[in-house]
Amino acid sequence: MAILHKPQVVLIGWTDFRQPEEYAWQTDTARAGEKLIEFAGRMCYQSWNNPSGRTNRQYIENLLRQGHLSVLEHAQASFAISGISRSCSHELVRHRHFSFSQMSQRYVAEDEANFIEPEVIASDPEAHAIFMQAVEASAEAYRRLNQLLERRLASHPDRLERRKLARQAARAVLPNATETRLVMSGNFRAWRHFLRLRGSRHAEAEIRTLALEIYRQLLELSPAAFGDFEEVEGEDGVIELRTPNPAE
Ligand SMILES: Cc1cc2nc3c(=O)[nH]c(=O)nc-3n(C[C@H](O)[C@H](O)[C@H](O)COP(=O)(O)OP(=O)(O)OC[C@H]3O[C@@H](n4cnc5c(N)ncnc54)[C@H](O)[C@@H]3O)c2cc1C
Repeated sequence: MAILHKPQVVLIGWTDFRQPEEYAWQTDTARAGEKLIEFAGRMCYQSWNNPSGRTNRQYIENLLRQGHLSVLEHAQASFAISGISRSCSHELVRHRHFSFSQMSQRYVAEDEANFIEPEVIASDPEAHAIFMQAVEASAEAYRRLNQLLERRLASHPDRLERRKLARQAARAVLPNATETRLVMSGNFRAWRHFLRLRGSRHAEAEIRTLALEIYRQLLELSPAAFGDFEEVEGEDGVIELRTPNPAE
């Protein structure tokens, strides 16, 4: 059992783009997602010549200012996320334009589960002691229930099904702090909306930390599509994401 304090976020997938020979169009970015967004935008008005000489970045910045955000839906990014709590993942899955694949607590045993400790608890020795006592008791109760239920179900002919039945019941005593792992995929428009809501100072601390990390990696992937966000540190040390553009 480990106590974790920071999410791990790895960008594992993103959009590719194939330059179509049929269109006499060129752009100045090497990034596939940004090419795809500009190509899709130019499809709307068949504006392949670029008479104003706009760079790709200027083109996408204009889309952002205009709120022409459906064009951003063509570019995608996927992240492998671990070291987050079940309460954080519950907040993540409220975002309906993403795809999720999350570690199953019915198939995967949680005997060696890790737990996420909120910073405000970790930094207070008395709160930390209460937290540790609670997660250790939950982990112990889980292990005992799991073993007991497997014994009770010993006559069940299917070993895998028996384990699943025991684990799905025993998990009832695991706390919100239990670590989960998942893959989260979405398009740039959905990510922008997510960053605006969950990068805000009003968001809960764990998901805000996660949103900040995701933002930093999205910014590397596409400075044009995410460069209008900025990290702003408040007097209380809270870092939040802000953008002057529409992010719905
Ligand atoms: C600070 C904060 C506090 C919160 N507190 C609570 C709480 O106490 N209780 C609680 O239950 N939730 C809470 N939430 C979650 C919140 O209510 C949303 O479920 C979550 O933020 C997802 O936002 P969304 O619905 O805009 O996003 P998404 O599901 O990502 O959807 C994006 C956008 O698509 C459109 N859309 C999606 N689905 C529909 C639809 N069915 N019909 C019409 N338009 C749609 C909307 O414009 C929506 O904004 C909180 C969120 C935040 C950021």
